[in-house]
Amino acid sequence: MSTELLKARHVTKYFPLKGGQGEVHAVDDVSFSLQKGETLGVVGESGCGKSTLARVLLRLIEPTSGEIYIDGVDLSKLTPRKLRAKRREFQMVFQDAYASLDSRQKIGNIIAEPLIVHRIGDRRTRRQRVAKLLDMVGLEADAATRYPHEFSGGQRQRIGIARAISLEPKLVVADEPVSALDVSIQSQVLNLLVDLRNQLDLSYIFISHDLAVVEHICDTIAVMYLGEIVEMTDGETLFAAPKHPYTQALMSAIPRPDPKRRGSPRIVLQGDIPNPENPPQGCRFHTRCSDIMTRCKTQKPEQLLLEDAGKYHLVRCHLYD
Ligand code: SF4
Repeated sequence: MSTELLKARHVTKYFPLKGGQGEVHAVDDVSFSLQKGETLGVVGESGCGKSTLARVLLRLIEPTSGEIYIDGVDLSKLTPRKLRAKRREFQMVFQDAYASLDSRQKIGNIIAEPLIVHRIGDRRTRRQRVAKLLDMVGLEADAATRYPHEFSGGQRQRIGIARAISLEPKLVVADEPVSALDVSIQSQVLNLLVDLRNQLDLSYIFISHDLAVVEHICDTIAVMYLGEIVEMTDGETLFAAPKHPYTQALMSAIPRPDPKRRGSPRIVLQGDIPNPENPPQGCRFHTRCSDIMTRCKTQKPEQLLLEDAGKYHLVRCHLYD
């Protein structure tokens, strides 16, 4: 039986512009649930709000409105002390592992830091824990005595992952964890994340601009466009029959060497993602949509739950009203 780990309800984050002239609509009315042991992929172009969503969910930045529950606990109701203690349960892995590791610290200290902050163990047990964590992420024990610049990009990401799991969290939010790595290294790091999920009963929120990357790791996929979730369902359903024109365009751009898996012809999105300071009226995707209808320019589509052979399938598009 699945149990809910995280629930987001109508989460919104607007950043005020300097001088009080308007605001950036980074995340708009996002709702979803994440079950224990589940991996949710959040996909969209750069600037769609997915990284802001990750930080808001972990309350690294405050939402403008909306509610976030982890294990049924409303994070906004916690005192700063209780929130700090709760943070043990959810950790982040960042895209730029090098920037997220203190270059002056040895790897052993970097990985042990969360244990020290949360006052877990003594020097000896922390050293043992660091050795175990290094082994779990596929690095030699002597890595503990070296510095970040002595490692490759993939190894640094392994160190970032070791630090993220040091407190035995329930949830890891990985923000573009492989996008800075070579393709051959990407799959090794993805395999490591999958192994750790199975070993430690972790749940992931996996942020990526690349649908092909989330295809093999995620149970559920949410597609974001200009701060909104425009489609969400399980990975199999999404890849078999994407409904939203934006998802269809992202999907058509995935290179498929296997001719049997080649989908519809490539749909080239026109123009850039619009400025989130001033998102388009009506459907936010209408300026780039090849299926646009007259009402798309003025009427905002609601999020619809499709009757899809018993599958949970949300889509925000007038084609399905
Ligand atoms: Fe395209 Fe209209 Fe659907 Fe928006 S609502 S995705 S513009 S068809």
